[in-house]
Amino acid sequence: MYSKLIILNFPPEVAQKAIVCQLTKKYDLLFNILSAKISNQKEGYMVLELSGTKSDYNRGVRYLKNQGVTVSTPEQQIFKDVEKCTHCGACTAVCPTEALYIKRPEMEVIFDKEKCSICELCILTCPSRAMGLFSEHTETAL
Ligand code: SF4
Ligand code: SF4
Repeated sequence: MYSKLIILNFPPEVAQKAIVCQLTKKYDLLFNILSAKISNQKEGYMVLELSGTKSDYNRGVRYLKNQGVTVSTPEQQIFKDVEKCTHCGACTAVCPTEALYIKRPEMEVIFDKEKCSICELCILTCPSRAMGLFSEHTETAL
């Protein structure tokens, strides 16, 4: 099973269409929406985990792009500044995906970017301002 976090940006003309549901119907893909912001007549934004075979994943992403959706990968969006982090653990209490966790017995706070859903809760929580957001996405090559 292939699984990947992707960011979808919907232009206004397609933001209200049920495009994401077609990923299951047409391409046998499973999706888990981690965050979404879509309003009437406006652009939409969605972060989701997409799972299936690699070829179905590729076909699904190609379908999204053909619909006018920009598909990018979020790997570099959230970063942890190791110089600023004091390993207080506050961020691990709010992180919904366990991307931030305490490594024992060292009691070191680790950031696993592969699990990050870009909810930004850690940025709001961190007293040391060690968590940040990159504005650039890497557009998928398909
Ligand atoms: S809240 Fe900030 S300082 Fe504390 S462990 Fe998390 S990243 Fe480090
Ligand atoms: S943005 Fe921060 S709190 Fe949210 S999933 Fe990523 S690491 Fe966890």
